[in-house]
Amino acid sequence: MDYDVIIVGGGPAGLSASVYARRANLRTAVIEKLTFGGIITTTDLIENYLGFPAISGADFGKAIQEHAMKYEPDMIQAEVKRVSQVEGGFSVETDSGTFTSKTVIVASGAAPRKLNVPGEAELFGRGVSTCATCDGPFFAKKDVAVVGGGDSALSEGIYLSRLVNKIYLIHRRDQLRAEPILQQRFTGLPNVEFVWNSVVTRIEGEKHVTGILVKNVKTGEERKIDVSAVFVYVGEVPQTDFVDVKKDDHGYIITDENMQSSVPGIFAAGDCRHSLSKQAIISAGEGALAAIAAQMLLEKRLIPQQNA
Ligand code: NAP
Repeated sequence: MDYDVIIVGGGPAGLSASVYARRANLRTAVIEKLTFGGIITTTDLIENYLGFPAISGADFGKAIQEHAMKYEPDMIQAEVKRVSQVEGGFSVETDSGTFTSKTVIVASGAAPRKLNVPGEAELFGRGVSTCATCDGPFFAKKDVAVVGGGDSALSEGIYLSRLVNKIYLIHRRDQLRAEPILQQRFTGLPNVEFVWNSVVTRIEGEKHVTGILVKNVKTGEERKIDVSAVFVYVGEVPQTDFVDVKKDDHGYIITDENMQSSVPGIFAAGDCRHSLSKQAIISAGEGALAAIAAQMLLEKRLIPQQNA
C-alpha cells in the first residue's frame, strides 16, 4: 500500500484530517482537484471560525494550507475518479495515476448547485457566476441579481453591495433561510430590492448577460429585470459520485459517529457528509475525528458503530 490514509479533498475537513493523520505518523496523501484550502477560499469574509473574528476566505485558505504543509503530507493535485476496494485497502484512481491506501477519508465537499435554466450554461463566466469575490469587481456600479436566500447568497450579497449599483435578490419564498445576523445586515443595505416568491426562468444576453426573466411562483406573473450579472447561490451538490458507500437521497455520505461510512476503512468529513449544518469549523472538527478514527482502525482499536 502506498499510504495509510488518502484524504480526498483539500478544504478545511481534508487539511484538518491531514494534520491529525501526520501527527499520528500515518503515511498521508491529500488529493485536491482545484484549490488547496477549498471552496471557502472564495468567500469574502469569515466571521464564525473560532479564533478568527474576521478573516478573508483567501487568507483563511492560505493559513490552513500552510498549517497542513508543516507536517509534510503528500499534496497531490489531481481529480479522483474512483475509489475501489482492493486486498488490504483501497485503490484511488485519479486523472494523474492510481494510488493505494489502507484507509480513505472522503472530504470532497460540495459544488454550487446550478439553476438549470436557459442561458445559464451559455453565459457562465460572461455574467453568470457562483463566485462574487472572483467576478464581482467586473460589475462595479452595475445592476446585478443574486439568486437564493441562504447564507451564501446573503454573505456574498453583502460583499457585492459595496461594489455594485443595485442588487435584485431573487428568492423562491418570502422568508430567508440565512442566519439572522446576515439577514439583519442584508436587509439594512440601501441598494437591495427583494424579489420574493420568484424563480429565474431564463438568463438573457448574446455575448454577456443583459437581463433575467423572473416568474412569481404564486401569481405566475413574469417580469424582465435588466442586470449585467447573475450570482447563483442556490445550495450545493455533494461531490461523492466516485465512491460507493451509503448515501442519503441527495448524495451526502452517511457515517457513524466516528465518521466511518458503511464501508469499513472509508470515512467522510465536511460538506460531503450527511449532517445538520455545513460550516468550516464543523468540517475541521469532523476531519480531525475522521483521522483519529482511521488511525484507531489501523491499530485495530476502533469499535464499529451501528448507525452507518
Ligand atoms: P443553502 O443553505 O442550501 O441555501 C440555498 C438557498 O437557495 C435556499 O434559500 C433555497 O431556498 C434556495 N434554492 C435552492 N434550490 C433552488 C432553486 N432550484 N431555485 C431557486 N432557489 C433555490 O445553500 P448555501 O447558502 O449555499 O449554503 C450551503 C451551506 O453552507 C449551508 O449549510 C450554509 O449554512 C453554509 N454556509 C455558511 C456560511 C456562514 O456560516 N456564514 C456561509 C456560506 C454557507 P429555500 O430556502 O426555499 O430552500
